[in-house]
Amino acid sequence: MRYIDSTLLRLPDGWTDRAKTAKEAILRGEDPNDYSDVWRALKNNLAELSHDKCWYCEIPVIRSDNAVDHFRPKGRVSDSANKHDGYRWLAFEPSNFRYACTFCNSRRKDPEGNTVGGKADRFPLENEADRVYQPGSVKNEIPTLLDPCDIGDWLLLGVQKENGKPCAASNDPEQKKRANVSIEIYHLQHEPTCKLRHLEAVKLLSDIEEAKELFIAIQSDATKKTAFKRVAARLLKAIHANSAFSGDMRFILRGERETNHYSWIQTLLET
Ligand SMILES: [Zn+2]
Repeated sequence: MRYIDSTLLRLPDGWTDRAKTAKEAILRGEDPNDYSDVWRALKNNLAELSHDKCWYCEIPVIRSDNAVDHFRPKGRVSDSANKHDGYRWLAFEPSNFRYACTFCNSRRKDPEGNTVGGKADRFPLENEADRVYQPGSVKNEIPTLLDPCDIGDWLLLGVQKENGKPCAASNDPEQKKRANVSIEIYHLQHEPTCKLRHLEAVKLLSDIEEAKELFIAIQSDATKKTAFKRVAARLLKAIHANSAFSGDMRFILRGERETNHYSWIQTLLET
């Protein structure tokens, strides 16, 4: 996961009027899905904000019919204490849209790794008593799911460098719980995704080792500087927002900085 600044979303000409008309129809009792072309019209603009990657897991979304996820479900909510028909009044609200791959968005079972996940109609809250059922403000609801549009949430997810499996980045019990629930609901532990994440981690760790050795070598041999810069550029690319799993790679690099206190790692993270 990586922070997405959704305020940068570009709305096509006339879109706001279409959304307003659709919302009025929904509030009269019509089905949001009859107006799905309205949110689908924003698919490419949402993808633009994340360099075509899923906002939850950061894998490139090649093809998906269902790429616009409603963070607060527009249909029923399975986590609510009472029957919830969905946050229908937010069905056309751009701040409720997340660009998502099929694995994160749709419920499925993966026999290879024996995992189950996918967001579908899930939306647990930290305090169920705050749940809003009728059109109105949701500002008092605290979602349990980590939100890529929240400036701090993505930092709560980490990765195990040995196998590419996701983990909580924090030891704080509340933050840890939110990370673990998100891992399950977004299906971030999906085995094929872990393998891809692990491949990136292996490349990153190899580059970190090479950079460490070159950094030491530079102290007595200035000609090693070029080679060091070449590796540093690769590391920078791996943690750049347009690379797959860039949030996970930043997590690994942050961990290396903390154990070794290398100033050059700090510089890369700040670049
Ligand atoms: Zn995804």
